[in-house]
Amino acid sequence: MAIAVEIYDLIKFYGKVKALDRLTFKVNEGEIFGLVGPNGAGKTTTLRIIATLLKPSSGIVRVFGYNVIEKPGEVRKLISYLPEEAGAYRFLTGKEYLEFMGKIYHIPRDFIEEGIEIASLGGAIDRQIRTYSKGMKRRLLVARALMVKPRLAILDEPTSGLDVAHALYVRNAIRKYAKEYNVTVILSSHNMLEVEYLCDRVALVNEGRIVNIGTTEELIKRYGVRNLEEVFIKAIGGVV
Ligand code: ATP
Repeated sequence: MAIAVEIYDLIKFYGKVKALDRLTFKVNEGEIFGLVGPNGAGKTTTLRIIATLLKPSSGIVRVFGYNVIEKPGEVRKLISYLPEEAGAYRFLTGKEYLEFMGKIYHIPRDFIEEGIEIASLGGAIDRQIRTYSKGMKRRLLVARALMVKPRLAILDEPTSGLDVAHALYVRNAIRKYAKEYNVTVILSSHNMLEVEYLCDRVALVNEGRIVNIGTTEELIKRYGVRNLEEVFIKAIGGVV
């Protein structure tokens, strides 16, 4: 099986702040891979580097064999990125936005129809984005990230701000795209139930380092606990 993402000894400084400290892991093609860790652990920094939006201080990052520093253009052809907080084009309707993105990515009409379905905005798809709630915007952006059927979808907290029903709907959409269209997914999440439900493997990140990696089952066994929340607390600790 091909390797979708390879990261070796990744270091990132923001000024004097060391956000990533020799981070190393691999994501296999077709996998849904979760990054889990406390606030400030370095998840968004890692995802932005993979997405070619941020330069590492040192280390190697490859996406399907392309080095993100040397071949950012090639990498961008293979990925779509959902930022943690994303603005959208306020004066477009949801549908116009998806159509616009569809043109940029040269995708067929039926992909856009699928995007409209994932967004599950009902009649609001024809309203301007500025009238949307936070959760509605999030769904639109998740739809945009998935509908292009990238080789790699980089999703920073995909369901943050979504109600229970819509979060479940989006999780199922992520799963469907991963399994049916062989989209590899790397995501971050603070919701351990979501990670258990979605991710084939999970990396625990703390202070810019990988603390442990495995399937949820493996991690539960390794730490001798009952669920991923308890793994998190045992591996990383609570608030001090
Ligand atoms: P959260 O769960 O809160 O989203 P995270 O795991 O995504 O956190 P990052 O946003 O990657 O963490 O931040 C990692 C570290 O880098 C933190 O110490 C943060 O303060 C710092 N950091 C992030 N972005 C910047 C920036 N633009 N300038 C300076 N420091 C930054």
